[in-house]
Amino acid sequence: MRAFHDARSAAHDPDRYFRRGAIVAHPEQASRYAVLRDAIAGHHRLEAPADHGEAPILAVHDAGYIRFLAEAWSRRAEIPGSIDEVLSGHFARPDMSRRPEGLLGLVGYYTADTSTPVRAGTWEAVRAGAQVAASAADAALADGRAYALCRPPGHHAYAASAGGFCFINNSAVAAQRLRETQARVAILDIDVHHGNGTQGIFYTRGDILTVSVHADPADYFPYYAGYADETGAGAGAGCNRNLPLAHGSGDDAWLAALAEALDGIARFAPGALVVALGLDASQDDPIGALRVTTDGFARAAEAIAGAGLPTTIVQEGGYLCEALPRNLSAFLDAFDAAAGATALRAPSRP
Ligand SMILES: [Zn+2]
Repeated sequence: MRAFHDARSAAHDPDRYFRRGAIVAHPEQASRYAVLRDAIAGHHRLEAPADHGEAPILAVHDAGYIRFLAEAWSRRAEIPGSIDEVLSGHFARPDMSRRPEGLLGLVGYYTADTSTPVRAGTWEAVRAGAQVAASAADAALADGRAYALCRPPGHHAYAASAGGFCFINNSAVAAQRLRETQARVAILDIDVHHGNGTQGIFYTRGDILTVSVHADPADYFPYYAGYADETGAGAGAGCNRNLPLAHGSGDDAWLAALAEALDGIARFAPGALVVALGLDASQDDPIGALRVTTDGFARAAEAIAGAGLPTTIVQEGGYLCEALPRNLSAFLDAFDAAAGATALRAPSRP
């Protein structure tokens, strides 16, 4: 399939963050970009994205937040001392949420945690990732399927906040772009972490179904969302579905939840599907909590391709380990094989 990517994705390169009381190496490293790209070179057609400008980003994000992301690095002199990243240890809370003027306060206003520092290349990288997602959405409508190598990931980003390594919600960008031509769009998030930002962006909308299969958040990131009783609100009532799994669940439980998710998507009858493809459900992932095998990822791809929908596969999590490139390749290869078979079968359907 066509696989969109942009070398500027590597321009955001955080090397450390504060986790569980200590400064540790940042798992969301720039080298993920080259590892994922090289995993599929030769199997899939690597392409540069078109530049769609900032409209696809602003279609799902708050303008003040995006201005903050674009300007924070150039305003870094406002923070005393010599810094290599714009970051704060202060965060707004629902009961203390005035928007301040100063840069340091804005960081805590627009971010949820310490994993999303704005560095020299951050805006360049996240803006490029959104272009990758938009281009892949266009290609999926034309060709039936496409892959967006977005890095850093996006599904923890809300309309007006970064968090969980994510700045721009690339899966939401793709879904909203598909919505321009489709009456209904579904997002299926299979990252090990709940897609809380995506849920938040579309929670009150009835035209975009969000479904997430993930490790139980009761004692796992993102902690404050991702529970089964979060089903949407207002016009979006019934259009959000969470399928949390017990930690340590393997292929059987994960694929059973996926089948349940696909049943719900079929009932919604969308015109297009976005898959938020986190590979951190892998049994080998350094920060994962589930035990999905490479064969499990291939079987997931077959099941999703069986839905027969134009599908945009957007890269989310999945961290450096020996299995990471193998799992991406297995997923995309199996998707292509199954989608090809579905297309060949289609004319004989009643
Ligand atoms: Zn994840």
